[in-house]
Amino acid sequence: MAYVISDECISCGACAAECPVSAISEGDAHYEINPDVCIECGACNSTCPVGAPNPQ
Ligand code: SF4
Ligand code: SF4
Repeated sequence: MAYVISDECISCGACAAECPVSAISEGDAHYEINPDVCIECGACNSTCPVGAPNPQ
């Protein structure tokens, strides 16, 4: 149950810098989380100014 970034993302990049396993990268429409790498720590949700990353 990896975290997923919603369309609310404003592509600020803050979450990518905080992710301990570098699971987050810039996608086509907004930032994206690689579900095979995410360890569900929640750091991205805590960091995001708009609460876009949430558990799927
Ligand atoms: Fe990275 Fe943790 Fe967010 Fe998963 S939940 S993408 S491991 S910061
Ligand atoms: Fe998008 Fe939030 Fe990550 Fe910024 S911190 S890139 S708004 S998901």
